[in-house]
Amino acid sequence: MKLRLLSPGGGTEFLQYLTSYILNESVAIDAGSLGLSGTPLEQAKIDHVFITHSHLDHVGGLPIFLDTVLDLGGETVSVHASEWVLDCLKRDIFNDRLMPDFFRISEQGPVFLKFHPQIIGQSITVAGLRITPIAANHVVPTVAYVADDGKVAVAIATDTAPCENLLSDLKKIPHLRALLLDCSFPRSQKELAKISGHMTTDDFAAVARQLEPGVEVWAIHIKPRFHAEVIAELKELLGDCARVLAPGQDYFWVE
Ligand SMILES: [Zn+2]
Ligand SMILES: [Zn+2]
Repeated sequence: MKLRLLSPGGGTEFLQYLTSYILNESVAIDAGSLGLSGTPLEQAKIDHVFITHSHLDHVGGLPIFLDTVLDLGGETVSVHASEWVLDCLKRDIFNDRLMPDFFRISEQGPVFLKFHPQIIGQSITVAGLRITPIAANHVVPTVAYVADDGKVAVAIATDTAPCENLLSDLKKIPHLRALLLDCSFPRSQKELAKISGHMTTDDFAAVARQLEPGVEVWAIHIKPRFHAEVIAELKELLGDCARVLAPGQDYFWVE
């Protein structure tokens, strides 16, 4: 009998199965893999979690993360999302069936967990970062986020089809240095991209060409099955400007 405890490693670290981005070690954008990597101490540094939308590759790690870090007598963890997403979390995950209702428990005793409903376009400043949800275009209500430290802004637009509002919002952001943008599918999967609310390499390149040359556009959310095809097309379309964000690596943008 052979048994293996599966880990996200095994030579496939370059593939992005789940989505979580950590900013300055204390703010998370999405919680797909949050709670599944890093030590408990590293995870406990994260006080704010911003959710783009309800799909499981973006929220699946949230109960695991909260189960690890929640401290009845300690720091409060804040989950920021639209009303629609918060309702999904409460009804579909923290429902005393899939997971204990941490939110009710927190309301009844010392508060250790907070839900913060957010509205598109309204910023909130946490841990020195001004975080603003902006419009995206996906099959469920979804936002992109802009994180601005006052000198440098980075936008994360995972899970979106082409979106005029998103593009016009991005063009207005002062000191935008990087855009992390959905590039889920190769052009051979154009129809699948359309029905699932994602971008193809052609869509991605079209956005990249419309932004200022100083804005780095990084491909994210590449579907693992099509990884090689997507990379090859990005190189063909964008040459040296083809950037693919690698899981597990630290990226720095400074003034
Ligand atoms: Zn999605
Ligand atoms: Zn996704």
